[in-house]
Amino acid sequence: MPFEIHKSVGCRFAIILTTRCNNHCLYCHSMTNYEDFFNYDFVKQETLKNIPKDAVEIQITGGEPTIVPYFADLLKFLRQNYPRTKIKLQSNVRMLSIKTFFDKIKSCIDLIQTTFNSNKPEIFDELTRVKGSFQQVVNALKIIRETNLDIYFNILIFKQNYKHLKDTVKFLRTLFPDKHILLDYPIYLNEALKNKERIYVSLREIRPYVQESLIDDRVFVYNVTPCVFDEKFRTQVVKQGFIHDDRYVYPLPNCNSCVLKQNCNGYYRQNLLIFKNYSDFKVIK
Ligand code: SF4
Repeated sequence: MPFEIHKSVGCRFAIILTTRCNNHCLYCHSMTNYEDFFNYDFVKQETLKNIPKDAVEIQITGGEPTIVPYFADLLKFLRQNYPRTKIKLQSNVRMLSIKTFFDKIKSCIDLIQTTFNSNKPEIFDELTRVKGSFQQVVNALKIIRETNLDIYFNILIFKQNYKHLKDTVKFLRTLFPDKHILLDYPIYLNEALKNKERIYVSLREIRPYVQESLIDDRVFVYNVTPCVFDEKFRTQVVKQGFIHDDRYVYPLPNCNSCVLKQNCNGYYRQNLLIFKNYSDFKVIK
């Protein structure tokens, strides 16, 4: 894959640093492969060429960016060249369980986004397909919580974890009492599509379990439309604002007349094509 820097509205950028990853998640929707890392000088040049000095946010993502040999140097480079920009790391955080590594990079990051799909080690490791990944991530989270770094979590919803979402939220609350948690419905592309028989669970099935997991006002639902839920839970459905793109469609012909449309991003076009789950949505008058 060519080197990519994505721009979204609000002068936010994402650097896709690699397509390689140290996990092999059953649900990965990215194009992962094992091509060589990009040349570091080239990455720096492209960054300066494509990202203006007044960027609001630069997200470093992948694949798994922390496995790139010059990852720590790149973070330092970004801090020096973009001192007023928020630096966000999207990572599975396994590498951050190495304290010396984390100490090297922590002052160059403002926000971490990570995925934590289950409080049950065997389910967590089944989904990542890396034995021991649960323990590594928990170790990393314990190190991260000793700092002032901001962090938020996505819990992706599958057949394996949907019945214990609430326990997973509570587990995260024991470590991070006030950080945002997004209950996130996956898009079925690439590896996720290949493994759909093993991991797919419908919106109808997850509904009660998602609702019972909204235990405080910092737990949200992501990538599911508000009409799927009872009225009192709809305020906790996140409208993604800046990332609305052509991956989303309004599923019903009469969505235009729905009173919730202002707060609805639509639903993944890709999922509708595969599962044809139109009956999960209901126009609210
Ligand atoms: S009926 Fe359509 S517009 Fe209304 S919330 Fe559902 S998907 Fe969104």
